Amino acid sequence: MATRQLLGELAFTHEWYKSFLTHLKEEGYSFETFPGTLEQKTILLRHDVDLSLSDALTMAKIEAEVGVESTYCIFIASPLYNPFDGENLQKIHEIQSLGHDIALHFSTHNYWPNEQPSKGAVETQVNNMMDVLRAVTPEISEAVSFHRPPDWALETEFETFINTYSPQYFSDITYISESNQRWRTDQPDFENLPERMQILVHPGLWSHRDDEFEKRLEQGVVNSCRYVNRRAQEEFIEPNKEN
Ligand SMILES: [Zn+2]
Repeated sequence: MATRQLLGELAFTHEWYKSFLTHLKEEGYSFETFPGTLEQKTILLRHDVDLSLSDALTMAKIEAEVGVESTYCIFIASPLYNPFDGENLQKIHEIQSLGHDIALHFSTHNYWPNEQPSKGAVETQVNNMMDVLRAVTPEISEAVSFHRPPDWALETEFETFINTYSPQYFSDITYISESNQRWRTDQPDFENLPERMQILVHPGLWSHRDDEFEKRLEQGVVNSCRYVNRRAQEEFIEPNKEN
């Protein structure tokens, strides 16, 4: 009961998210980054940055205010943002300077849309992409999260990186995700949380107001287009005017 009063009605707002983190801290949980100790009352808080680095940075600041460390998995093959663009590079560095880890968010679908690859093939391609991410920032986590993970990626260990869906992080402990804002219909029991958890939160699904999933997705696309338009003006159109 106390939890419900403290957290209030679930809303995909930054305000609710902050109260959620504050509540977890007050309940005695400590936040870890991968590989973590997985001791009593520990949480591995992970973010798959699918839509927006701006939203990721906003969330990273909220967490820093509360004194929480987490892992931001960067989707370097994202259709919505380019992590190598100057402003985005800065955002990633800022997230890191707030005390958070940077990791790879990897899409298997780009390489193996239908078939199941060998473990070695996955390791080679993931390692290549980790090297690409190291060009963004040299200090990256050994953890890797799979974007829309296929069944073969679940509960599988790899030699060369930490799979966030391996049994020790996915089935041996409680795994809680708000993918597609599913907490609206399938809400975790926030009043009786387990001793060890991995929690997945997508920064793009949260805002200053409580928007539905489709609205957040639409807004992410609009913001991405605006960003590209502004940066194209700055990089190509305005310099030509000066010449
Ligand atoms: Zn994803």
